[in-house]
Amino acid sequence: MNRTFSIIKPDATKRNITGAINKIIEENNLVIIAQKRIKLSKDIAEGFYAIHKDKSFFNDLIEYMTSGPVIVQVLEGENAVEKYRGIMGATNPENAEDGTIRKLFALNIQENSVHGSDSDTNSKIEINYFFDENEIINN
Ligand code: ADP
Ligand code: MG
Repeated sequence: MNRTFSIIKPDATKRNITGAINKIIEENNLVIIAQKRIKLSKDIAEGFYAIHKDKSFFNDLIEYMTSGPVIVQVLEGENAVEKYRGIMGATNPENAEDGTIRKLFALNIQENSVHGSDSDTNSKIEINYFFDENEIINN
């Protein structure tokens, strides 16, 4: 068992499709062991996406991620990081495989409905960025 970090992004909360997204996550045997609905501040969003601070899309990304509520959550399951990346699909929904969350729901390469950690190292950093260990309940 391992853990990954997930965000349901503002385009999805705005369209009231958080349940539809989490249905797919749960159908794939990932268990939501922590969850909260929050609004990201500019500082928190910039810290979270610091790795992209030199990219051309950074300012737009921060504006978008702070434009409405998000759901931050911790998922647990076998190969959680890799499995959830597979379920999410490619960053650009035009390249995402059929049945993936981004193929089904993403509006475009920026408003792509979900975030998922890309490695076990980053999943730990990202989970710790939003959750205390006592907020994570897996039994
Ligand atoms: P992923 O979320 O698939 O790990 P990245 O880490 O590369 O993708 O990018 C982080 C987020 O930044 C993406 O999910 C998307 O919201 C946004 N993004 C990435 N590339 C672009 C782009 N070329 N134009 C606009 N937004 C982008
Ligand atoms: Mg990424």
